[in-house]
Amino acid sequence: EYGPAPEAAGPALEWLDRHGRTFGHFIGGGFTKPGKTFASVNPANGEKLADVTDGTAADVAKAVKAARAAFAGWSGLSGFERAKYLYAIARQIQKESRLFAVLETLDSGKPIRETRDIDIPLVARHFYHHAGWAQHIGTEFPGHVPYGVCGQIIPWNFPLLMLAWKIAPALAAGNTVVLKPAEFTSLTALLFAEICQRIGLPEGVVNIVTGAGETGEAITAHPDIDKIAFTGSTEVGKIIRRATAGSGKGLSLELGGKSPFVVFEDADLDSAVEGLVDAIWFNQGQVCCAGSRLLVQESIEERFIAKIKARMQTLRTGDPLDKSIDIGALVAPVQVERVLDLLKAGRLEGGDFYSPDTEIPGDGCYLRPTLVTGISPAHSLASEEIFGPVLVAMSFRTPEEAVALANNTRYGLAASVWTENVNLALDIAPQIKAGVVWINSTNQFDAAVGFGGYRESGFGREGGKEGMGAYLKPGWEKKLSAAKPP
Ligand code: NAD
Repeated sequence: EYGPAPEAAGPALEWLDRHGRTFGHFIGGGFTKPGKTFASVNPANGEKLADVTDGTAADVAKAVKAARAAFAGWSGLSGFERAKYLYAIARQIQKESRLFAVLETLDSGKPIRETRDIDIPLVARHFYHHAGWAQHIGTEFPGHVPYGVCGQIIPWNFPLLMLAWKIAPALAAGNTVVLKPAEFTSLTALLFAEICQRIGLPEGVVNIVTGAGETGEAITAHPDIDKIAFTGSTEVGKIIRRATAGSGKGLSLELGGKSPFVVFEDADLDSAVEGLVDAIWFNQGQVCCAGSRLLVQESIEERFIAKIKARMQTLRTGDPLDKSIDIGALVAPVQVERVLDLLKAGRLEGGDFYSPDTEIPGDGCYLRPTLVTGISPAHSLASEEIFGPVLVAMSFRTPEEAVALANNTRYGLAASVWTENVNLALDIAPQIKAGVVWINSTNQFDAAVGFGGYRESGFGREGGKEGMGAYLKPGWEKKLSAAKPP
């Protein structure tokens, strides 16, 4: 029924087999009996990996009840005691990093090189970092208390990493959580649940309810949830903001982007090309802060575009489990359709489309990397978030024009500026309205640095002190005993 598996997938498939390839939710410290299920499919070959339960409002209510029951005990622990659990989670993630990486690649289509070297190490780092925070909340946030029960809804592009960004600070602060992974990528969240069980995390502190948009709606609507943290599309972010308005719930939204990648004529062009590969073709372009709008100075435009095209010829698209692959599969057929529809509409508006004539597998959710030139800022592909391996390029003459073009977007998540002139870089960077501006680099993340957007990219920060603050509120109920060693 499930088809033959490539060698490297073995341990992950065995783990799925141990669960009978069918999963319930993780509520109150244990897995529930599966209910009505949907399939979790490997987008690289269309094979079903497992059946996952579609969470109902009753399932969500059960999870919230478990989280509420666990709250007094968890928030009553000293920060040092909570830190011990976070350290234990981090160590288990490192111990099982191979299993997590392969499972993530199977479920999402991300190249194994990325899950193995980027996603999973960052997940472990995030839990280590926040274990440290748990011990300092009393001194860094005096008089603050955790929210209570947090509802957390995450996307499919960095499944386990987005889970870590949500759960680690929430737990460090003393909250309990009900988290819903995206419907395409539930499996690493379920493996994470098993880790929580294994390290003896108190029952109900972490609850995972799987499902699609309706399950998410049940979370945002539940009256006994104190804070909602959402990462996903701007469209759903708007729905959630409306749904929670006036409810008294805390809210943070991490949404979409259309981030500029600005290359000045004096930049190290070869480095900039490599940066661009990372900016737009990392995770098949399914990255909220993807450098999807190349803005290049007119004097070097032709030369730089030629370099990009040459580099695109060498990008290998194929089986994400193959270690030599640069571009894996998009997450699901519906996402391929979405990108193709945007490209089709874009073609009618003009522009020159370039894709290398490299081989891509016939089956599976594969798309060739694409470069679009000869367009203006008004072109739909220059303004819409594509969330696929598509780069659009436009040119500018002066630094002022570069800033104006960079800010000509309804988003404001990230930006990247390339120049060998440090004065120019330091002049331009603060003028770009984005949550993060990288200079001569891209996609640099660290648990110690706040990440988040402006405008339609959302509000609130994750990571760093700001990210911790997002899981605390000024308190009168009780004092945290965080600074007391056990
Ligand atoms: P999505 O908004 O469709 O789904 C995100 C999550 O919300 C999923 O778990 C989904 O099941 C759930 N959901 C869907 N409808 C809902 C509803 N009405 N109520 C409650 N929950 C609902 O987004 P996606 O397609 O999974 O992810 C891609 C988007 O996420 C992109 O726009 C990307 O830019 C954004 N993103 C942002 C960041 C960031 O940090 N800013 C990070 C990653 C992804």
